[in-house]
Amino acid sequence: MPILKSGCCWRVGDGSMIRGAKDKWIPNHTTNKILFPVVMEDEDWHVADLIDPDLNWWNRELIYAKFQRGDADAICRIPLSYRPAPDAIFWLHSKDGIYSCKFGYQIARRIARESTWAECSTGPAGKQVWQKFWKLGVPNKIKLFGWRACLLPTRVNLAERKIIFDNICQCCGREPETEAHVLWECGAAQDVWAGCVPRLQKMPNNHGNVIELFENPLARLENSKLELFLVQAWFIWNHRNTVVYGGSFKDPKWLNQRASDYLKEFQQAQWQLALLATTTGRTNWKPPPHSSFKLDFDAAIFDELNCTGFGAVIRN
Ligand SMILES: [Zn+2]
Repeated sequence: MPILKSGCCWRVGDGSMIRGAKDKWIPNHTTNKILFPVVMEDEDWHVADLIDPDLNWWNRELIYAKFQRGDADAICRIPLSYRPAPDAIFWLHSKDGIYSCKFGYQIARRIARESTWAECSTGPAGKQVWQKFWKLGVPNKIKLFGWRACLLPTRVNLAERKIIFDNICQCCGREPETEAHVLWECGAAQDVWAGCVPRLQKMPNNHGNVIELFENPLARLENSKLELFLVQAWFIWNHRNTVVYGGSFKDPKWLNQRASDYLKEFQQAQWQLALLATTTGRTNWKPPPHSSFKLDFDAAIFDELNCTGFGAVIRN
């Protein structure tokens, strides 16, 4: 059932059977549903309410008045039949809209991959390994990157969701871009890993999936090397994004060095913060002299959130 639910979408006929806010009925639109739900008079409104019954065409005036521009554009792009036609369900993942075992299998694999990844962190086998992962001395955004690595918007994942049609890696132009490919197997990634710790270089080059790619070092490497592995993987993914969106390829040696420096800078900052907390903890606050005021203040920069904060207390 989850497979069918994930791959089916309504083809709009007269719109009478389709629940506008709940069903999937907008092809070529993220999630195939309305992204910004609106308040309609009838909470359980149907797509038929958006169709002009005399013209058998979208009521554009109503749609653009009610919905956000992106949703309204996507609705009005859906072709309608000039003759009355019933609504029908079609399969999103094939050109003719007909379900086949092959496409069902692809969706089943994706669902299984995502759920296996989630189980890895909670199941008895993976629990110990993932406990180690959460304690690593890397920025939280990199831990989250590792945690969500099987859900990266790679070209294979985007093609499976029908957002793009070509799933070939844009860095090497040779293989479908899976997570394991982009982070390890691709020539662009291998050039970076070539400068990493020898034990990592000996890892096999054909991981079945990204879970194997991550669990191998998680189980085998000591923490300091594992931290560098994660930061390098994160740099490779960001470098891939730069290249895909028009940037130039960077020298792999520079990427390797930058990953190493970045990790050192982060750990140095953590160490200084810990030291500061210890030092400031020993200072005893003393009230100011009679009829005076005392101002205590502090400020900090949060790189990861891209913001700063400050606070002040005035006491007599
Ligand atoms: Zn590639």
